[in-house]
Amino acid sequence: MNPAFQLSRLQKIDTELDHINQRQQEIIRLIQDESLVEEVQHRLDGITTELNSVAGILRKLEEKNSQLQLKLQEDEHALYGGKVRLPRELQDLQNDIASLKKQISALDDEQFKTMIQVEDLEKKRAEIEVELTKAQSVFATRVAGLKGENSSLEKKKENLQTERLAAIQNVDSISLEKYDSLRKSKRGLAVALVTDQACSACGATLTPADWQAARSPQRLVICTSCGRILYAG
Ligand SMILES: [Zn+2]
Repeated sequence: MNPAFQLSRLQKIDTELDHINQRQQEIIRLIQDESLVEEVQHRLDGITTELNSVAGILRKLEEKNSQLQLKLQEDEHALYGGKVRLPRELQDLQNDIASLKKQISALDDEQFKTMIQVEDLEKKRAEIEVELTKAQSVFATRVAGLKGENSSLEKKKENLQTERLAAIQNVDSISLEKYDSLRKSKRGLAVALVTDQACSACGATLTPADWQAARSPQRLVICTSCGRILYAG
């Protein structure tokens, strides 16, 4: 059996397995990456905080307004009730009433503006809530797709591992050892194809003698430049 050919088969299987493993790592990362949803949730939290604060201001304005309304009623009661008779006191009361009406009118304006603000924020929040539901649904669909992809990769991996077990039977232990150590030191690529009389991994041109040897089925030829096992096909 041609050892370079057997190792090139093994390399093909291992490269495919490496790609599958990489993609599976990527899938794990993508499934955990909820940034799409988190970004919208973050905006929703922000607007909810803002809304609560403005709604609090509105409540205070309403309280103050009703206190002033109550005071106004009391003053008007006193004015028209006939109990206050002294002109000086009547004048004071009238002044108080005028001042209260002015304050109430200013408060009404402020209250109105704040109410509009609350309504705007409520509208915005409702929009973001819709956005959040959409983002959650997009994410769920994406996760389902990724999980589906992962299980088909898992099946492919099982098949490749069976193939690998068969391929490894035909490799002698010395060649296999060389292959394994090159896989570790050469970032997964132990066997390089020879194309146009050059090593396809590093691009170095083979000497005529190496080129001859690489095509011989008997022994392993190593690229003098990158150290990988050459397979001439
Ligand atoms: Zn090379």
